[in-house]
Amino acid sequence: MRAGADFSFTEEQLMLRDSVRRFVREQVPEEYARKCDQEKIAPLDTFDKIAEMGWLGIGIPEEYGGAGLGFTELGIVLEELSYGLLELSVLVYRATVHGAQSLLTYGSEEQRRKYLPLIAAGKFKSSMSLTEPNAGSDAAGIQTRAVRDGDYYIINGSKIFNSQVDLATRTVLVTRTDPSLPQHKGMSLFFVDPHSPGVTIRRLDTLCFRSVGTNSVSYDNVRVHKDDLLGELNSGWKHLMTNLTKERFSVAAQVTGAAQNALDCALQYAKDRIQFGQPIGKFQVIQHKLADMQTQVHISRLMTYDLARRLDAKIECRKEASMAKIYTCEAYHRVADEGMQILGGYSMMPDFPMERHYRDSRIMRIGGGSSEVMRTSIAKDLGL
Ligand SMILES: Cc1cc2nc3c(=O)[nH]c(=O)nc-3n(C[C@H](O)[C@H](O)[C@H](O)COP(=O)(O)OP(=O)(O)OC[C@H]3O[C@@H](n4cnc5c(N)ncnc54)[C@H](O)[C@@H]3O)c2cc1C
Repeated sequence: MRAGADFSFTEEQLMLRDSVRRFVREQVPEEYARKCDQEKIAPLDTFDKIAEMGWLGIGIPEEYGGAGLGFTELGIVLEELSYGLLELSVLVYRATVHGAQSLLTYGSEEQRRKYLPLIAAGKFKSSMSLTEPNAGSDAAGIQTRAVRDGDYYIINGSKIFNSQVDLATRTVLVTRTDPSLPQHKGMSLFFVDPHSPGVTIRRLDTLCFRSVGTNSVSYDNVRVHKDDLLGELNSGWKHLMTNLTKERFSVAAQVTGAAQNALDCALQYAKDRIQFGQPIGKFQVIQHKLADMQTQVHISRLMTYDLARRLDAKIECRKEASMAKIYTCEAYHRVADEGMQILGGYSMMPDFPMERHYRDSRIMRIGGGSSEVMRTSIAKDLGL
């Protein structure tokens, strides 16, 4: 049962939504999601089945082996998968956005022909390697160096919080190629095999994202061929910025699906849990909490698909993307927090998905641009 999840999609989009929903019901039941989280197992078997359904190629043009659909369809897939398990959706997002959209936005034609069909077929996983121990929000301060040596670049440096880099076929590695240029200018992106000699990956023990996980990575004289430069030399920052709205949109879709799951769990519990001789959902204070949760999930969905339509229509939407990232991520955390209150002591146990939502929702206000950084970006767009 879903609380008020309807949205005005076309008939084809509704068919897609229903088929992802059916898939999630059958392949990603709560027991599966719980096992992945509790036992730190990446949902790779389900990722392969998602590839078989053709959903990894949704945003990839047909000439590269994809379905040639738009951001609304991508949002539907990410939202619905996230309803089952947020980290499964994140795995798909890394392939479809960090992988495919990076190639489509700034990859060469040769790189597109080489990699996009593999991404669409599920034979290629991606990750993003930007954050460093001394460069988080201040991402332009990264120090990882790439120095030209004949046909290769030699890479040295350290990254932190690189999610699923251990599973990736290639990671988008952000490096400094010319330290003499101003900070935002001397950066370049490489499509690096994280299993190359000289790369050491160490899994981090984190509160959230325990299934797929996140890692620290060191690069010690790693040789990367010049053909694996993504985009133009020293234009890495510019390239990263062009993909930001797509990333923020994808995050909004993911947290909306996860928040819907948290809401549905709390609603069912409020109907089932008897105290003082009646379901706790009969108490007005619990009803109001659920009404607020429903309102926030609804607004999150509206913001997500408004953004999808802007992206599909190629309308500039940097401010809207930042607003959606803030609102949807904070709404997910509020919904999970109120969900914990409604489930009372039982919320603390993994028998219900709420404690996972509570943990996973916390990172969404920090990762991929914190709420503070988003607000600063909106303020800039307001001319402040
Ligand atoms: C589980 C997890 C997964 C992640 N996955 C990835 C990944 O796959 N790839 C990747 O590259 N990175 C990843 N990250 C990194 C994530 O994007 C960073 O943690 C985030 O950008 C914040 O950087 P920081 O942690 O260094 O915090 P800091 O930048 O040190 O910020 C600390 C606090 O100060 C605030 N702050 C900083 N600057 C300002 C400012 N100018 N104005 C107001 N407030 C400010 C921040 O909002 C925050 O509240 C992940 C992180 C986690 C925890």
